[in-house]
Amino acid sequence: MLENCKDCSHIRTVIIDKQETYNVKGTDITITARVKKCEICNAELFDMNLDTENLKTAYREYKKNHHLMQSEEIVALRKKFHLTQSMLALLVGCTQATIARYEKGSIQSETHNTALTLFKNPDNIREALEMKKAEFNPSEYRVLSECLAAEKSTLDSKSINLLESSYSYSPNVYSGFKKFDIEKLKAVVLFFALNQIDLYKTKLMKLLWYADMLFFKNNVTSITGMKYIHQKYGPVPYKYSLCLSIMEDLGVIELQDQEYGDVILPKSDKSLLDKLSASELEVLKLVSNRFLCAKAKDISEQSHKERGYQKTELSLVVIVRQTSLLRTNAVFQMVLESLHCQPLQGKSTEQVMQRL
Ligand SMILES: [Zn+2]
Repeated sequence: MLENCKDCSHIRTVIIDKQETYNVKGTDITITARVKKCEICNAELFDMNLDTENLKTAYREYKKNHHLMQSEEIVALRKKFHLTQSMLALLVGCTQATIARYEKGSIQSETHNTALTLFKNPDNIREALEMKKAEFNPSEYRVLSECLAAEKSTLDSKSINLLESSYSYSPNVYSGFKKFDIEKLKAVVLFFALNQIDLYKTKLMKLLWYADMLFFKNNVTSITGMKYIHQKYGPVPYKYSLCLSIMEDLGVIELQDQEYGDVILPKSDKSLLDKLSASELEVLKLVSNRFLCAKAKDISEQSHKERGYQKTELSLVVIVRQTSLLRTNAVFQMVLESLHCQPLQGKSTEQVMQRL
């Protein structure tokens, strides 16, 4: 690089890495700075561009330490939802110039950072947009609403893909001879959320198991096609937590934090229930009424007595090998074996229920 050194008037300079400490908002931040030096006399030479770059690096480090969003994350967030700087400013409650400064590397206030972080969740943008609808011009409002709706449907299909890939097995004895059917699962979960009082996660697990087992006893096929795992406290749907959080993402249910844990409440409208056949609904009503007043603990004790549960071995929560998967999910097989000695087909659901 050609530049006159003020000290020795040579013209050969180099850029070197050097540890430098900057004071950012009262905090000392040490970074590896890039500094220009004279190659001959070693004097440091001021360079505006390098200085700006180093300050940006120090700011980045400060933001990292204080868990603040980086400027490119703010830009990415804005672009993701096709927001202009002024639209984002309206949502955050600041000026367009402020957003522009943040995007260039300035450090945002804690309050603005909280707002920006919340907007990573499109539900929060939707809420803020409705609150500030009057401040948006109608076409911007419409474009953003459409964008959020599209985002929601992409998210939904991602959730569905994730769940379906977890349950992407061919129908066999472990899944009650049924391919996993997310629409049925949504309907069954909503049904119980609508019909139970204080439905806790543990109780829902048991109700799902009973519904699938009972339907299987009558029809040699289950309703949802889920696999169940034998665990210490009774049978549990395979990947139950994932399943439940996806039901929440898809707006089927919502979880409400209460004294004894999260209570499951219905969220989507009842049209989901149209996916259920009359015989499936009959089974769900029976199971729901049978256990209406039962606590999860009672059902858990009851489920321990069931043949499909007793005949299988205790499994680990995490299934490592395929062989253990085969051994531990054989609850349907056990039900099937019990059918061979005591055929239940042809009997009414009421009669089958009495056997439970
Ligand atoms: Zn020099």
